[in-house]
Amino acid sequence: MTIPITRTEAHNTASMLKIKNLAFIDGKFSGAEDGATFDTLNPATEKLITEVAHCGSKDVDRAVKAARRVFNAGTWSRVSPEARKEVLLRLADLIRTNAIELAVLESIDSGKTITDCFNEIGTEVPNFFQWYAELIDKRFDKVSPTGEDALALIVKEPIGVVGLVLPWNFPLLMSAWKIAPALAAGCSVLVKPAEQTPLTALRLAELAQEAGLPDGVLNVLPGMGETTGQAVGRHPDIDAVSFTGSTEVGGYFLRYAAESNLKVIGLEMGGKSPLIVLDDADIDDGLIEHAATAAFWNGGQNCSANMRQLVDVKLVDEFTERIKIRAKSFKLGDPLDPQTDIGPMVTAEHQARVLGYIEKGKAEGARLITGGSSREPGYFIEPAVFTGLTPDMTIAREEIFGPVLGVLPVNGLNEALRIARDTEYGLHATVFTRDIDRAIYMARQLPCGTVSVNGFSEGDIKTPFGGYRRSGSLSRDNGTEAMDQYMQTKTIWINTAHP
Ligand code: NAP
Ligand code: MG
Repeated sequence: MTIPITRTEAHNTASMLKIKNLAFIDGKFSGAEDGATFDTLNPATEKLITEVAHCGSKDVDRAVKAARRVFNAGTWSRVSPEARKEVLLRLADLIRTNAIELAVLESIDSGKTITDCFNEIGTEVPNFFQWYAELIDKRFDKVSPTGEDALALIVKEPIGVVGLVLPWNFPLLMSAWKIAPALAAGCSVLVKPAEQTPLTALRLAELAQEAGLPDGVLNVLPGMGETTGQAVGRHPDIDAVSFTGSTEVGGYFLRYAAESNLKVIGLEMGGKSPLIVLDDADIDDGLIEHAATAAFWNGGQNCSANMRQLVDVKLVDEFTERIKIRAKSFKLGDPLDPQTDIGPMVTAEHQARVLGYIEKGKAEGARLITGGSSREPGYFIEPAVFTGLTPDMTIAREEIFGPVLGVLPVNGLNEALRIARDTEYGLHATVFTRDIDRAIYMARQLPCGTVSVNGFSEGDIKTPFGGYRRSGSLSRDNGTEAMDQYMQTKTIWINTAHP
């Protein structure tokens, strides 16, 4: 989609934003009880945007009490499906109406390009609210096949108060992935945005109130992981947490649950996803563009980025030459410029981490054929392409989460499959082949939540997204499956007598 504003207009919008920097609890913006704040910076300029309320355990507790109160009152959890649907449809419309302002806010807070922000917030984010809104009055519960002396109903009920703990790479989109199905299910929600990108979730809460969501149903608690995130994880009156972030922190939430109230934990975590080019792939049919997108979209700060590119020896030379040219053609720069393809890394710390991997790749013998340097001001890294990767190298095993693509030559389908499977992760894979039998065989053999064939795709609203192995738990975002994360199952057994 083309962006309906110019760079100058985007900067003007940015300078006029009325930024919300307080927590949103029980329908009101308020500071943290102890007055704590933290800074959120613009990663493209390294300048402070605003100081944001840093919620502690008392603030989390206040939000849980509000969420529980309204859940028990039933003014959201028990209203008619049509009533919930109407509010969420209104919210979808309000997001569309405010999409430019939200996209600019997202861009300055995260460093994501205005093009990506607008594509996500102008279309995908409101579509999520609309899709789940429309699902509410179209899902049916079940009647079990009993004999005539009983009627057994299997009904779904909202799980209660849920905590949604979010990453920084798709701030508002990840909010929508989780908030929309949780609200559709009838839950009360606490959102803990990533500390790097708290601003759009706060504005979303305000729009939800305008749409008619009762106070206390949606609370947004900005803060750090160790304080705010941990307080959510350990709170004894939160029924479930849905988390997206690193595998390490996902593990902490299992511990928090074990040490508090055994809340249900849904995890979407890291990856080291392969893109596999078999020897019969059509290299001229968009393959290079897909391979580049798979590695460099969002500056590679994408959990399903296909950084490990396993290319058959028959095609590897041509592939490498063409991907190098494409990598060089990406335009780095001002994220508010619609011409920009790649913005900065989200923080200086993350930039240093990615640059560290690039150094490690060189030290372990991979060959850097383009990019990999930093640029200032801002936390920029030029898209890097490595060749000659071997499966044991650090950059072939660990998640980098930056614009680094590694080409690993493979000899035939079996070797490709063996190397692709040789990872502790299982989020995503892409396979290129013109042979339908090979495509289906590979898709079934790859242990991951999403396999895309002849193009890089994460699926869409309608298809569940999540990981195998250390990339995720059984829960899924998106699709009708996402609502199941926020519901529990009740059996109602009615003995019947013949009158
Ligand atoms: P992260 O450090 O794991 O943070 C995720 C969230 O957890 C943030 O809100 C964070 O707060 C919070 N957190 C951090 N430490 C915590 C602690 N000790 N206790 C409780 N909460 C804590 O991950 P990230 O750096 O934001 O995001 C990058 C990672 O997310 C990558 O590994 C990527 O693969 C993964 N990811 C996965 C998916 C998916 O769907 N599978 C999607 C996107 C990203 P702070 O912001 O304060 O650290
Ligand atoms: Mg920021």
